[in-house]
Amino acid sequence: MIEKRQFYINGAWVDPAASRDFPVIDPSTEEEVAVISLGDKADTDAAVAAANAAFETWSQTDPAERIAVVEKILEIYNARAEDMAQAMTTEMGAPLKLSREDQVGAGSYHIKNFIRAAKEFDFVRMLRPDAPNDRIILDPIGTVAMITPWNWPMNQVTLKVIPALLTGCTMVLKPSEIAPLSSILFTEILDEAGVPAGVYNMVNGDGVGVGSQLSAHPGVDMVSFTGSTRAGIAISKAAADTIKRVSLELGGKGANLVFADADEDAVRRGVAHMMENTGQSCNAPSRMLVERSIYDDAVEIARETAENTGVANAHDDGDHIGPLVSQMQWDKVQGLIQKGIDEGARLVAGGLGRPDGLNRGYFARPTVFADVTNDMTIAREEIFGPVLSMIPFDTEEEAVRIANDTVYGLTNYAQTQDPDRLRRMARKLRSGMIHLNGKSRSAGAPFGGIKQSGNSREGGAWGLEDFVEVKAVGGYPAE
Ligand code: NAD
Repeated sequence: MIEKRQFYINGAWVDPAASRDFPVIDPSTEEEVAVISLGDKADTDAAVAAANAAFETWSQTDPAERIAVVEKILEIYNARAEDMAQAMTTEMGAPLKLSREDQVGAGSYHIKNFIRAAKEFDFVRMLRPDAPNDRIILDPIGTVAMITPWNWPMNQVTLKVIPALLTGCTMVLKPSEIAPLSSILFTEILDEAGVPAGVYNMVNGDGVGVGSQLSAHPGVDMVSFTGSTRAGIAISKAAADTIKRVSLELGGKGANLVFADADEDAVRRGVAHMMENTGQSCNAPSRMLVERSIYDDAVEIARETAENTGVANAHDDGDHIGPLVSQMQWDKVQGLIQKGIDEGARLVAGGLGRPDGLNRGYFARPTVFADVTNDMTIAREEIFGPVLSMIPFDTEEEAVRIANDTVYGLTNYAQTQDPDRLRRMARKLRSGMIHLNGKSRSAGAPFGGIKQSGNSREGGAWGLEDFVEVKAVGGYPAE
């Protein structure tokens, strides 16, 4: 049993103020593999006080000094890649191959790209050539509370901690209590890299405890949150009394528009993307909208693809998907599959229960529903499991209307060979990100949503801007 009860405050591992043990469960086996502590107000206050004190000096450091620290973090992160992959596979059930390549890889990718963005970032800018004594100074916002989810642990943590370090902020990270092991390891990496005491602090805890204490804390200047829309609303309300900035990356219900002239692989690719990480991605293309003339063929391809999606223990090597993260998530996904059946969607693959031969672990069956209408619960709610909803459409206008008929707006997808239509889709689909014909965004492109998917932009220069305040200075002496 791994014992990780301590928190990292002011550059040291410290015991929690009160003892509140919390088990970490391996979702592949349902076994308790580690124990952490849930913090309480005294721990939160100590971490915030350390961050506030460190801000005075860290905020005034030269950007080059901060970049050097982050370069050291990247070096150690890469050296500990295998430990990190094992930690994530154990805590949240990403299959080892996905952990090694994508879960760990997302972290190093973001750290690398932020270093590049920081080197090109002007913290002091001219206003205009005809205003030579004006300057716009981009100041670090202050002490940032970071609250992260379990589904892409290092992706989310690096998207917050690294730009905060680079802009001169100090911080308190509260990782998901369900998947804390990777963040504990990440904290060891930052400690080894020589991040000065108090600049970065980590307190484990749950949402109602440390999460809401940080959100309401008068010593916190900004909350950067990734997680459910439900928690994003609670955090926004808790933060309102102190007028702190609240940066939100929330849920999604992405539409994937497959037109009759889509490339041959479009449907298979869309299903595979849906199933990746066992459907536990905020940008999953969970509604596949298919033009009616190819709809029956598409349903058949989707059925085949889902049935050929292997499900196995996350610790096994291979291209299979793993379990859902927890009993709670398993129950939620089963409930939504049942809803799909009850509301009249046509089940073409998967369904209720565990896959054959897997009697232990939170495993779900790769599931496809056809003939879904956009008012059904499975088309409206984020399922966060390996469940695809297929909806036929007749015209481009109808497809766009269905795609945009959701409270979310994170990522939408379109598949067609018609360049004019691709450009129209990029303009008309209402979301923070659009992927056309299976092409993802390049390094440095911002990640984020609109509507109830949130308001922040993470990654690259936009990701740095999320953590600064704009200070306008007049009468600045010429240099
Ligand atoms: P969650 O909202 O339950 O928990 C996320 C974090 O918030 C955890 O650390 C939790 O302890 C904390 N929390 C919960 N309630 C809180 C409260 N009232 N106050 C303060 N903190 C609170 O989400 P989850 O189940 O861990 O993650 C899944 C959700 O995250 C999905 O909805 C998914 O779409 C979303 N997500 C969004 C993005 C994005 O970038 N848009 C990325 C990944 C995940």
